Amino acid sequence: VLIWGPRAKNGFPSQNQPLQVQIRRDFGSSAFLVPNDIVFRGQTPATVLTWPMHTGPTTVKAEPLPTHRLLIESRRQDRTISRAGITRAHCLTYEESGFVTKFVQSLTVGHRKDRSANSYWPPTVFFPSIAPMSDLSHTDKNRTNETVELLQQLIRNKCVNTGESDSGEEIRNSDLLETFLEGPGVEVERFDCLPGRRSMVARLEGTNPSAPSLCLMGHTDVVPVSPDGWSRDPFGGELVEGEVWGRGAVDMLNLTSSMAVAFRHLARNGFRPEGDLVYFGVADEEAGGTYGAKWMAEHHWDAISADYVLTEFGGLPIDTPDGKKITLAAGEKGLGWRRLTVKGTPGHGSMPFGSDNAVLKAAEIIRRLGEYRPDAKLTEMWQHQVSTLDLGPDVKAALLDPASVWDTISKLDSPALARHLHACTHTTFSPNVIHGGVKTNVIPDSVEIDVDIRTAPGDSDRVDQHLRDALGELFDEIEIRPIHDDPATFSSTDTPMWHLLQELMQKAHPGAPLIPSLIVGATDARFYREKGSVAYGAGLFSERVNSSDFMSRFHGHDERVDIDSLALTTQLWLDVASNFWEKVNR
Ligand SMILES: [Zn+2]
Repeated sequence: VLIWGPRAKNGFPSQNQPLQVQIRRDFGSSAFLVPNDIVFRGQTPATVLTWPMHTGPTTVKAEPLPTHRLLIESRRQDRTISRAGITRAHCLTYEESGFVTKFVQSLTVGHRKDRSANSYWPPTVFFPSIAPMSDLSHTDKNRTNETVELLQQLIRNKCVNTGESDSGEEIRNSDLLETFLEGPGVEVERFDCLPGRRSMVARLEGTNPSAPSLCLMGHTDVVPVSPDGWSRDPFGGELVEGEVWGRGAVDMLNLTSSMAVAFRHLARNGFRPEGDLVYFGVADEEAGGTYGAKWMAEHHWDAISADYVLTEFGGLPIDTPDGKKITLAAGEKGLGWRRLTVKGTPGHGSMPFGSDNAVLKAAEIIRRLGEYRPDAKLTEMWQHQVSTLDLGPDVKAALLDPASVWDTISKLDSPALARHLHACTHTTFSPNVIHGGVKTNVIPDSVEIDVDIRTAPGDSDRVDQHLRDALGELFDEIEIRPIHDDPATFSSTDTPMWHLLQELMQKAHPGAPLIPSLIVGATDARFYREKGSVAYGAGLFSERVNSSDFMSRFHGHDERVDIDSLALTTQLWLDVASNFWEKVNR
């Protein structure tokens, strides 16, 4: 393996001068080998690496390299590429004067057995993104290891929430956290909404009853998996090439575990916060909080109340045309789930002509919902978000105009980006469940349609008006029943906590400003915001994380998190709790 780039002043490539990477291998005819773990020998500035997309052949050119050359050696056993011809999670270890940073990049090797015109031959190595490394010098290896271990255990406890009241069994994770956290000075309480649906609260009492309280809230449940789509055991909690794998690794057992490690470390070292420091390990976030945060807010608010709350999810570095920025969730969309009941008149299925068939009416209602175009809701958060997009100035201007935002989004190249941007700017309507009819030869007189409606900020009390606009005269043919109603919520970005997070995140990502982001799903933060608390979705992720690839791991296949991110996040909670009250008093 060779890596080279233009010689810079100090003898090594500089940030603006892309490095070239080539892997040379003698390939057999049926399988390819790629080195699995590569050690980088040589001193190199930590900020050096901007790696270009490299799509050329993998053989090294014969001509002498005109530039500085670094030799790397393969350290571990080679690995045969899977039958699909693709291997991922290629690990490079990077050593520099006692400072070791690991980063993983996604390496894809195209592989075709034949040499037909459209096949890759010789095999082509793509480097989609190798980001520079994060500075981990301010983090503590022991704390990081504790987070890794606790995260693995939380994953293995498999607290899968299907939405059924008897699923989740968060008692396993709750008890694990209780055992982990209990000790001198820590008050622990547990709350069983239903058998098995346990939440727990640990508290370090503040020295000043009038000082603001701070809650670190992590949910203990995870969503189900489709095991066929996974390359590893979704509940194995395996540590592979610097990443912890498993359901919940990013949503959000990574935060739940790192918060517990920070809390315990502070408690064991005699830390006395000025206001109460609360750790809240909560059940049932993934099904709306009915047996978790919602129930706790209604029945045990005293146990969990806090002036400031940190929970999922933010702290993701993203590359923008104006440089790196870090997202922090300041708000989320509302839920306005509705069940629409469509009525008809029963009759014999052998004579359908002119019948009042509820299924046919429901079909038209669903079609209209699919075509409905609500007005755009463009917030200040949206302006920040548009500024981060790598799109031309005309496109960006069109995205900021309520009249053109829908059409502009529909013309974007990336369907995933379009979906997300649309959700950020509109109240959305997705008819997701339909029940109706009783028998093949009976014309149905009733159909129920469950519509997942997500309200944009400022739109939460207009759900039924939207349905009227969408359905026209058919609106009068349906009964509407709310299934779930929670308004969109938002916390100000001008708070001591916001400013503190802005400062602390600089340690990992120097110079990167925080930008407020809107979560298009729902988190437990909304229960706090509705009570007047300031709640942000935080965390801190490393350079190893590629933001778009990363987002697909939420509720997706192959969910995993890198250890660097766990190190940064654990340290973030420690720093937040250690500095928060001083910041408030300043
Ligand atoms: Zn979550």
